[in-house]
Amino acid sequence: MSETGIVVVGGGLAGARTLEALRDQGYEGRLTLVGAEPHLPYERPALSKDHLLKGTPLEEFTTFDAPWYDDHDVALRLGVAAVALDLAGHTVTLSDGETLGYTRLALATGSRARQPDLDGAGAEGVHLLRTIEDSERLDRAFHGGARIAVVGGGWIGLEAAAAARARGAEVTVLEMGEQPLGRILGTRIGGAFAELHRRNGVDVRTGVTVARVIASGGRAAGVELEDGSRIDADAVLFGIGAAPNIELAAEAGLAVKSGVLVDAGLRTSDPDVVAVGDIAEQAHPALGRYVRVEHWDTARHQPEVAARTLRGEEASYDRQPLFFTDQYDLGMEYRGNATRPDDVVVRGSLDGAYLAFWLDEQDRVEAAMNVNSWDAGDALAAMVAERRMVDRRRLADPDVPLPT
Ligand code: FAD
Repeated sequence: MSETGIVVVGGGLAGARTLEALRDQGYEGRLTLVGAEPHLPYERPALSKDHLLKGTPLEEFTTFDAPWYDDHDVALRLGVAAVALDLAGHTVTLSDGETLGYTRLALATGSRARQPDLDGAGAEGVHLLRTIEDSERLDRAFHGGARIAVVGGGWIGLEAAAAARARGAEVTVLEMGEQPLGRILGTRIGGAFAELHRRNGVDVRTGVTVARVIASGGRAAGVELEDGSRIDADAVLFGIGAAPNIELAAEAGLAVKSGVLVDAGLRTSDPDVVAVGDIAEQAHPALGRYVRVEHWDTARHQPEVAARTLRGEEASYDRQPLFFTDQYDLGMEYRGNATRPDDVVVRGSLDGAYLAFWLDEQDRVEAAMNVNSWDAGDALAAMVAERRMVDRRRLADPDVPLPT
């Protein structure tokens, strides 16, 4: 490879781990990280957990500390965005006007929080949660007695609701669907999460649509629902999903759909460019379809394969998606990718420790979740990876050993 080396665009977990994997694999060429945020890459799960709950400082959840980048001979370009990509010329233009050449390029531009398109959404006291700055603003808003309206009962909304409750705020969660998390976990397990929050004092309202943010003197004072009712609040958090940052790739002419399309080795439609982490919509060899996974575990592990591809080796990423969450006294891991969220077999008690399994039409395990139960993780991983066929009745019976 010539002098220009490898440029990684996107200073999140996937970007940082791609640099690490390249050096671990013996790559000795030039390495540059371009990151739009002014911070070293950091671990976002901590934003809605440790940071909001315990005030853990940013330094404790940066992926690598500053000396690591020196030690690994990485040139850092933080606080500047890549604004244009010339695939034919092998250059990236940055927001400060500089142009970098590259031999090979990794795109790890991640996602941004979806913005609500509603009247009043620009008022002070309306929040999103994606960055350390967002988390710091929420940290100031979540205090004893504050009234918090959380719009969206997804992972971010529910984790933030739990953090706000832990800090003594009054919380209302407003979810459009039949249950929070229903699209991912189905209505039965989503209902168990709703109950968890209700037991912890959250007013969870489902089947409701927020029509606008009520603002008074430029500050959010609550939200109005489509039925005209009103929820008073001192702060409103929108947790309505994430949008992948694919514009740079799309404008350059790379193939994109809901993410940047990549093959099993994370190679984009340009052989000199890989995409990794939240933006990668991968032809997943084990799942047999394209998937784009917005999970920490994917951003953590795809880089090893991305680095191999960047170095010209043949590699394939076939790890099953894995997600985790912590809310109140509940901790869980979810493996796989259920295509039929409402077809679930539960083993154990929904208000305590349990396992849940999502099956396909042939009763094969597509996804599995362990809640407050940590011994079964490996068994569940194997069942999902092998898509094991099960007997529903025996699977639900905690006295019958899990099939091995
Ligand atoms: P990102 O972390 O989004 O990083 C991308 C970076 O690229 C950003 O810094 C962005 O500013 C930068 N960038 C974008 N465009 C450009 C550009 N043009 N030029 C330069 N830089 C650019 N996942 C779990 O599995 N479990 C959890 O419990 C969990 N909790 C979460 C809690 C919160 C609050 C959030 C926000 C996410 C959580 N996630 C969780 C998801 C997980 O954090 C993401 O999947 C992961 O961060 C993806 O990493 P990434 O590097 O692909 O993207």
